[in-house]
Amino acid sequence: MTTSTTGVPTAARPTTVAARATDLSKVYGQGETQVVALDNVSVDFRQAEFTAIMGPSGSGKSTLMHCIAGLDSISSGSARIGDTELTSLKDKALTQLRRDKIGFIFQAFNLLPTLNGLENITLPMDIAGRKPDKEWLDKVVRTVGLADRLKHRPTELSGGQQQRVAVARALASKPEIIFADEPTGNLDSRSGAEVLGFLRNSVRELGQTVVMVTHDPVAASYADRVIFLADGRIVDEVYGPTADSVLDRMKQFEAKGRTS
Ligand code: ADP
Repeated sequence: MTTSTTGVPTAARPTTVAARATDLSKVYGQGETQVVALDNVSVDFRQAEFTAIMGPSGSGKSTLMHCIAGLDSISSGSARIGDTELTSLKDKALTQLRRDKIGFIFQAFNLLPTLNGLENITLPMDIAGRKPDKEWLDKVVRTVGLADRLKHRPTELSGGQQQRVAVARALASKPEIIFADEPTGNLDSRSGAEVLGFLRNSVRELGQTVVMVTHDPVAASYADRVIFLADGRIVDEVYGPTADSVLDRMKQFEAKGRTS
């Protein structure tokens, strides 16, 4: 971390760490074609906190998310989910960890068209042979406002409702952490606002930890904090962001980029 942290005093922040990167570097390719996508990144994602990751295209946002979520290998340093060091895991254990401890939400909703809403929500648990906790499932369905849509197939739902099914699917197994990659990228602004509101509710009401990659300052303003990446490094962090304060930071980085 090279610059200031603004907003909430340290003592007021939750302290249990759901995921952590320490001196994490990721290098693609070799020799002249080598790209340093992440350069010694250290960051904590605390439990029950909603973090947005922002930065220009190519700054390393997706790479950071993929490395911490165990979807991509790391070149050096460490990545941890809860107490588990990802580099210590073999493929099978890593797959299991992703299945049991991590929820994913992508820009494309990735729902199965032949299954109804509820079946889509419980599908990952069905595949894993786990029984959903009924009380929890009811709570999740209420939190994302889907109680009267559970029998509908994806084609009978709007884009926003489909993404809410995907949010519920990610929440259903009570994962340690949810990673969302541009979750509102395919939605109009009203549906996007709804999905973001429900994601925020899942943090406030269910204590879920959420990390979201976005390029949209309005989306980022739903988070508790925003970290900014540039050239594979974390260059700033803001607590209690507003769309205006995020936009302001982005302009500063662009201006710095032009003068350096
Ligand atoms: P962002 O998500 O912020 O747009 P990325 O994490 O996708 O950025 O990419 C960071 C850098 O790493 C970019 O320079 C990109 O071209 C490079 N990169 C990402 N994935 C690969 C890959 N599989 N092979 C080679 N270079 C990659």
